[in-house]
Amino acid sequence: MRILVTNDDGIEAPGLRALVAALRDIGQVTVVAPDRERSAVSHAITMADPLRAVPCDVDGLPGWAVSGMPADCVLLGVRELMDEPPDLVASGINRGANLGEDVWYSGTVSAAMEGAILGVPSVAFSVANMTGAPEFDYRAAAAWAARLVPLAAAHLPAEVILNVNVPNLPPEQVTACELCRQGRRRYQTTFDKRLDPRGGIYYWLGAELPLDPRDPGTDVTAVREGKVGIVPVSLDLTSQPSLDSFANWLG
Ligand code: MN
Repeated sequence: MRILVTNDDGIEAPGLRALVAALRDIGQVTVVAPDRERSAVSHAITMADPLRAVPCDVDGLPGWAVSGMPADCVLLGVRELMDEPPDLVASGINRGANLGEDVWYSGTVSAAMEGAILGVPSVAFSVANMTGAPEFDYRAAAAWAARLVPLAAAHLPAEVILNVNVPNLPPEQVTACELCRQGRRRYQTTFDKRLDPRGGIYYWLGAELPLDPRDPGTDVTAVREGKVGIVPVSLDLTSQPSLDSFANWLG
């Protein structure tokens, strides 16, 4: 199995190295990842600027450090850099949760979605640190990646990715997983309003922990209960119930 590994935290990130270590015995790993952190760039791609892809060694495996976004990495990796298309795209392991509406901002999830657009089974992995703990432990997420990747490669339907969030706990404490629906987060978004040295006002997005609702059956709740939250996310964003009600409106 050929596996393209990417992320949004950059090619030097410990989470990417942990994912590579977890998957290198399962398949032939090629890393194509951003050359710097690109968190929260969502599904941006680079159109007006050149993309540089610098070949590099990633813990003894072939890699490219790309000047673009996570989605650029998957597109460039599949279309240009790899000799043959991958059998699976694995994105992560992200430093931080991608739960609920986080998926709209996440470069990690969008990289997997780009894999799905290209017809490749794809999975996004994130460590959900819900307490603001200073250290991220990637070991549990790495173990779950090794377990889930072969299943995803064999069974994922077209145009559906898996968004996997693993609690930031030691591996022996993360023994259960739950298939979930996408929940909601409740960010208490604030901005720091500051002055630059020349007296100009600027704003900096705050980093408060969200007060997430505890809806049963959601990824947010699963992770808060110490379980791996697995959400199948589809490329098709159509609201099926709205289709029916709009049809009634329109007559
Ligand atoms: Mn990130």
